[in-house]
Amino acid sequence: MPHAGIERLKTYVPGKPIEDLKRELGLSSIIKLASNENPLGTSPAAQAALANFDGALYRYPDGAGYEIKSALAARHGVTTDQLTLGNGSDDVLELTARVFLGPGRNAVVSQHAFAVYPIVSQAVGAEVREVPALDPAADMPYGHDLEAMLAAIGPDTGVVFMASPNNPTGTWIDNDTLADFLDRVPATTVVVLDQAYIEYQSGASHPPVLDWLARYDNLIVTRTFSKIYGMAALRFGYGLSSPRIADFLNRVRAPFNVNTVAMHCARAALDDSEFISRSVASNTAERASLARELAARGFACLPSEANFITFDTGRDAAEVFDALLRQGMIVRPLASYDLPQHLRVTVGGAEENQAFLAALDTVFA
Ligand code: PMP
Repeated sequence: MPHAGIERLKTYVPGKPIEDLKRELGLSSIIKLASNENPLGTSPAAQAALANFDGALYRYPDGAGYEIKSALAARHGVTTDQLTLGNGSDDVLELTARVFLGPGRNAVVSQHAFAVYPIVSQAVGAEVREVPALDPAADMPYGHDLEAMLAAIGPDTGVVFMASPNNPTGTWIDNDTLADFLDRVPATTVVVLDQAYIEYQSGASHPPVLDWLARYDNLIVTRTFSKIYGMAALRFGYGLSSPRIADFLNRVRAPFNVNTVAMHCARAALDDSEFISRSVASNTAERASLARELAARGFACLPSEANFITFDTGRDAAEVFDALLRQGMIVRPLASYDLPQHLRVTVGGAEENQAFLAALDTVFA
């Protein structure tokens, strides 16, 4: 029999592959703006590295990730013993839960936070304390309420998970608020600051994570190559922390959790600054234009510093989702995130966004 935490879990239902949907719906083309992927595709440097890859596939990967760790350490100004490599950053979240949670412990998360936090927490038998998000009328509507999260921390709280920018809201936490929070969290509780979307944060200054890593021994910052680097299929992410925490995470990490091809391509992508700047510029411009267009149509958009926009459809969003899908437009309904009237749309390229708005107009005509 599975343990009680597993009984309470629901299986995460991923979207169907585009080809399957085309067949099912009888459509020749589909636009997918549902998973916050990079509309510009994959970093050309990573693509070239993949095309020229001549590594030995019959050998196990470098379990220590020597090359990519050295490059990441140099990039961030940390030492390699502060890094934990993951098969996507989800993997690092799971390692964190396995080390710092378990029966009798709890994880503190915000309402409308990333679905993987409760999954990895309950999977190891921990309780999840979900803290109500900020009010819809707050300056940061539906954002994380750090005061309330702090109040929810008890002696058995192993981990606080938070994302800034957050998925699925796009909201963020300002640096002073975050620093104040880190100052006040007990040293016995680990704080995960999930930065899957940090590269897209353009309107505010990025948190000084390097200073914070030096100051807070209980901080884990997670990053991914799935979003801005356009490498979601390859699965590569990592954690930055104190050497003490990284040592714990690496104790439970499967020895070959990250594959050779992913590390090889990530190494190349890391130097592709041209692609990163182009992706950021495209997202910043298109996000502003999409937000403007949605607002002009009367939809309330959540403020977003990510590569997606979440907006209130004013009705049951499942119906809007279905009507968009029938036109070959895939977005993300958010009922499972406690936001039954909201849809999350990934910021696409100009043409994709135009097509999305046209499809939306048809639904609301
Ligand atoms: N954190 C957040 C907030 C996310 O939205 C995602 C991707 N949906 C991830 C982590 C995980 O990304 P990956 O495992 O692809 O690195």
